[in-house]
Amino acid sequence: MIPVLADILAARQAIGAMAALDTPLVPSPTLTERSGFDVLLKLEIGQHTGAFKLRGAANAASRLPADAPGVTCCSTGNHGRAVAYAAARRGLKAIICMSELVPQAKIDGIRALGAEARIIGRSQDEAQIEATRLVQEEGFAEIPPFDHADIISGQGTIGLELLEQWPDLHTILVPLSGGGLAAGIALAAKAIRPNIRVIGISMQNGAAMHAALEADKPVSVEEVPSLADSLGGGIGTENTLTLQLCRDLLDDVVLVSESEIYRAMQFHYYEDRLVCEGASAVGAAAILAGKVRLDGPTATLITGRNVDMKTFTDIVSGRDVMLGNDVLKGQPYGA
Ligand SMILES: *Cc1c(COP(=O)(O)O)cnc(C)c1O
Repeated sequence: MIPVLADILAARQAIGAMAALDTPLVPSPTLTERSGFDVLLKLEIGQHTGAFKLRGAANAASRLPADAPGVTCCSTGNHGRAVAYAAARRGLKAIICMSELVPQAKIDGIRALGAEARIIGRSQDEAQIEATRLVQEEGFAEIPPFDHADIISGQGTIGLELLEQWPDLHTILVPLSGGGLAAGIALAAKAIRPNIRVIGISMQNGAAMHAALEADKPVSVEEVPSLADSLGGGIGTENTLTLQLCRDLLDDVVLVSESEIYRAMQFHYYEDRLVCEGASAVGAAAILAGKVRLDGPTATLITGRNVDMKTFTDIVSGRDVMLGNDVLKGQPYGA
């Protein structure tokens, strides 16, 4: 079922009771100066678990019976943390299945939240097989990362908040992976203000939704290391909702390079005093690289802060970073 505004309003009630927070919208004076339009940052890094994904996971968990055997999901990290946190809030057991490509900091984070982290295979699709087995053989409830009405509705609560916080908003820049976030925000925002623009932004390498939109069907995309690791993974070969919603509701999808993400992470740190992960910086990357044309007040989503701190300090120090076997050449900020 495709969610509607009423589902997103209901999600807001449900997740408020499960400790998902309304998050601040703060000015970015330097992005404003560079772009010529007011740019504000929606700080989902202040959410419990450090990313917006708690909204969708809490909404899905709120709808399960209290005696469910447990919950599972397949995740590149932030969704897993969110499911772990939401399950603990409901007193449910959680087993989080993830691929070997997930950074250690994210695995540790999930264990610290009291869930089991089960590492399977080299892709999200392989980890998915184990999650499906838990559902079929052990009666677990799966909380999928994006392609589900409850998840889309939960993420969509950001769209409601944004328009309350800033009724003049023209454009929303949304980091795009599986599309639950972009679909939810676009559903909510366009239901209230039909002519608002919602633009999805992904990294150039491994942008699964972008490839699917071009092909008009899910296509398999090689998962490659990226500074925006939270944007990795496929959209699912059986995608039922987010591809269609992104096709119908997104005004554009823009791709940014690894060095553009690198510079945008430096920018958020030095100009906005923010520690955020690569996925959070793609909006600024697109603005700074001139890849989006702004037409008025703009919000960009700072979606998460769960970055490996060694990588982060290398980036803000201008050092090279390794992406798998490739070197991404560093450069001091402002050089
Ligand atoms: C999951 C995630 C996204 C993308 O959300 P989708 O619903 O998969 O498109 C963006 N940023 C961060 C930090 C994430 O964890």
